[in-house]
Amino acid sequence: MTHPSPIAPTAKADILAQALPYIRKFHGKTLVIKYGGNAMTDPALQKAFAEDVVLLKLVGMNPVVVHGGGPQIETALKRLGKKGEFIQGMRVTDAETMEVVEWVLAGEVQQDIVGLINQAGGKAVGLTGRDGGLIRARKLKLADADDPSREHDIGQVGDIVAIDPSVVRALQDDQFIPVVSPIGFGEANESYNINADVVAGRIAIALQAEKLLMLTNIAGVLDKSGQLMPDLTAKRIDELFADGTLSGGMLPKISGALDAARSGVNSVHIIDGRVPHALLLEILTDQAFGTMIRSH
Ligand code: ADP
Ligand code: MG
Repeated sequence: MTHPSPIAPTAKADILAQALPYIRKFHGKTLVIKYGGNAMTDPALQKAFAEDVVLLKLVGMNPVVVHGGGPQIETALKRLGKKGEFIQGMRVTDAETMEVVEWVLAGEVQQDIVGLINQAGGKAVGLTGRDGGLIRARKLKLADADDPSREHDIGQVGDIVAIDPSVVRALQDDQFIPVVSPIGFGEANESYNINADVVAGRIAIALQAEKLLMLTNIAGVLDKSGQLMPDLTAKRIDELFADGTLSGGMLPKISGALDAARSGVNSVHIIDGRVPHALLLEILTDQAFGTMIRSH
C-alpha cells in the first residue's frame, strides 16, 4: 500500500511543471556539486542525493560530484588513536594522516558514492586528482589570518597548481557521472590532502560550470545572530571575514565559492544538505534556498 501524500495532485503537477524552464535552461550545462556534511552520513539523505544526481543526468545536465569526508576521516583516525587537528579550517596532515585520508576518501567514501549513484540507475566513475592528471598540487603555505608574516606548517595539505579537466569532460560526454576525491599530486607523485570546497570551486572554474552547489550541514551562511543570509556579495564577505562571523569549515567554503563566482561560474550556492532532495529544490524550483554567493 502506498502512503497517502500530504500534497494535492494539482499541487504536485504544478511543481513538476515548474521544473520545465529550469530543465531547458540547464540542458547540456555542467553542475559541480560539493557533497559533504550530514547529507553524506545519513542513509536516507544519501539515497535521495544519489537519485537527484541521476535525475539531473537523465534530463540532460552534467553533474560532477566532488566529495568531502571529514566525519569519516575523523572516525578512521580515532580508530588508530589519532586526533584530528585543524588550523584556520584546514586539517593538519602528517604522513600517517595523509595515508588515512587517501584510503578513507578514495577507497571508502568515493566508492560508496559511486555505488549509490549506480544503484539509483546512473553510471558513476570515481576519480582522484591523480587520474588523468586532474589535480596538480604543491604544499600549501598557510599564512596566519591575524599576522600574515607568520606561516603555519600543516603538513601534506595541498595548494592547487593546475586543474586539467579533460578526464572529467571525456567521462561526462560519455554519459558517466564523475565522482572526484579531493586528493592532488605533486611533482614527485606525492599526495596532497586538499579541502573539498576549494577543489569543487576550482573544478567548476576549469569546466566553466553553470552552477556550483555546496551541500553542507547547516542552513547556509549565518550572520552573528544565527540568521540565514540568503545573498552575499564579495564586499560583504570581506566584512564577515574581518569581523569573525565566519570560522572553521566555512572559511575554505566561502573562499572556494567566491573564487568560482569571480571566475565566471554563473550561480554559486551554499545549501542545506540536511533537506531531502536539496539538489532538486535548488536547481528545478523557484524556491529560494540557502546562501547565494555573488562576485559583486
Ligand atoms: P562541510 O562538510 O559542509 O564542508 P564544514 O564543517 O567544513 O562542513 O563547514 C560547515 C560548518 O562551518 C558549519 O557546520 C558551521 O559549524 C561552520 N561555520 C562557521 N561559521 C559559519 C557561519 N557564519 N555560518 C554558517 N556556518 C558556519
Ligand atoms: Mg568542510
